[in-house]
Amino acid sequence: MSAEKELLDLIMNSEGITISEAVIVTGHSRTKIALSVSSLLQKNYIIEKDATEFTGGRRSRLYCINGDLGLVAGLDIGATSFDIALADLSRKILDVHSEPANVRIGPIKVLGRTCEVLEKMITDRGLDPINLKGIGIGLPGPVEFSSGTVVSPPIMPGWDRFPVIETVQQWFPAANVVIDNDVNVMALGELTQGVGKGIQNMIFVKLGTGVGAGIICEGSVYRGTNGCAGDIGHINVDKNGPLCQCGNHGCLESLAGGPAISHRANLAAQDGHSPILIKYLEKNQGNLTPEDVANAAREGDAVSVELIRETGLMVGEVLAGLVNFYNPELIVIGGGVSNIGNNLLASIRQAVLNRSLPLATRNLQLVFSELGSRAGILGALDLAMDYIFTLDTSNQVSVSATG
Ligand SMILES: [Zn+2]
Repeated sequence: MSAEKELLDLIMNSEGITISEAVIVTGHSRTKIALSVSSLLQKNYIIEKDATEFTGGRRSRLYCINGDLGLVAGLDIGATSFDIALADLSRKILDVHSEPANVRIGPIKVLGRTCEVLEKMITDRGLDPINLKGIGIGLPGPVEFSSGTVVSPPIMPGWDRFPVIETVQQWFPAANVVIDNDVNVMALGELTQGVGKGIQNMIFVKLGTGVGAGIICEGSVYRGTNGCAGDIGHINVDKNGPLCQCGNHGCLESLAGGPAISHRANLAAQDGHSPILIKYLEKNQGNLTPEDVANAAREGDAVSVELIRETGLMVGEVLAGLVNFYNPELIVIGGGVSNIGNNLLASIRQAVLNRSLPLATRNLQLVFSELGSRAGILGALDLAMDYIFTLDTSNQVSVSATG
């Protein structure tokens, strides 16, 4: 990597940096850094600001990304909804949008709708879609990252090997499009802007309709050989458990995912074990959601409390294995189902502590996500930003143009 690209990456991931700081962090000479700075200033990629804090001596110049250089978008496409964030290149969020969408209606309709919305978000601000330089997309299925291909996604009929990148680029020809699995994208969001800031080794666990994990290894997303590292939803928990979407029995997802929690709550209510759940069942026309279980538990319903505890223990047992194997310093629990309360975190923690080696848990923290549903769009923006500036053959940085 050239010093210029290294410097640009550093500036992108900071809120502004001085030449002296860049020298210390990169290890390059002051002359080399100063040359790279003037080249980047000349290309208009960065801007100069006065450092606000006066530290004695000369007031040093601070270099930041030129936000006006273009736009970037983060798309978080989930199983039942999508979220879009539009930002400038300094990562200042200009607009966000969410709407329900069933991923099962297929890629043409889902991508068509998301691109239409994104285009409107841009033109509504009086801007030109040609200024959109990068789009990061999180998708709820396995993605082969190197080729940008969705491969055999269990809950996404019609998406298998669909040309997602090419389709989105037809709408936004000036944008570099990068796709990844939604959990990796959420992990990236937590790493750069959430509880994972500054953490080297972390596991982000998404508990939602599906269950999965994003792995941060030495400060970057670890995707594995084919891009499916962290697919913990299909680790076996109970050989005699229910049939999973993947065709096996008793996977973690089939026992601790949102639909599994709903199913077990429905059974408990139908069997008459819980008057509070029966009340919610009647209110919801015969189908309980994980949120109902959370509310019932808050109202003191013992069946719901136990259901949450069991779910936490199952997740925790799988995580204990990962902790022994991987020795992370932080585990972040996120996704829609994580909202079912602190009892969930307590039982996950209990199982992890009981079943992991003491050395592996000595510095381990286990927390809920603070970004919540924003982790996906913020991570998708980061993903896009990571690929906006590329090196050309002369080792010079340029704004990526793949259209
Ligand atoms: Zn499975």
